[in-house]
Amino acid sequence: MVIVGFWNNPVAFGTVDTFDCPKCFNSTNWQLSYTSTYFTLFFIPIIPTGNYYNLVCPICNHQIELSKKEFKNYKSFSDLQLAKQRNEINNFEYELKLNDIKSLIEADKKIESDKALEESKSWDDLVRIKTDDELIIIYYHERYKYNHSMLVAVKREIDKRKIT
Ligand SMILES: [Zn+2]
Repeated sequence: MVIVGFWNNPVAFGTVDTFDCPKCFNSTNWQLSYTSTYFTLFFIPIIPTGNYYNLVCPICNHQIELSKKEFKNYKSFSDLQLAKQRNEINNFEYELKLNDIKSLIEADKKIESDKALEESKSWDDLVRIKTDDELIIIYYHERYKYNHSMLVAVKREIDKRKIT
């Protein structure tokens, strides 16, 4: 008998940024994580099948998927935190590098949000037929179920209808 399966190998890289979780609404210290998946034969990992980059909420375990580029930025962030903990750099160097990394992360977020703005236009027809209540539920209570570009379209419709 041949036994095949999949094996996940998650690696945690420590704490990075602090911001509100879209699922549990707590302001948390997000953990950086990287998971590689392998196809296994007789429980031995043989073929790598995928890599997943995530930020993980330590309270509710909600995951935000990152692109490889975003992961690289956050990895520099966690490396920097580690270097500071080990006293390998002084406060001045730390602040300087932290600013560099934060601007990189912000620049990439801007690129992603411009992309989401463009993609959100394809959701307009769907969003327009939703009731006020449905829009509020999607945006404020179940936003983790929807992709970013749809939420951008929902928010635009909420503002347009002046729903409060
Ligand atoms: Zn959470």
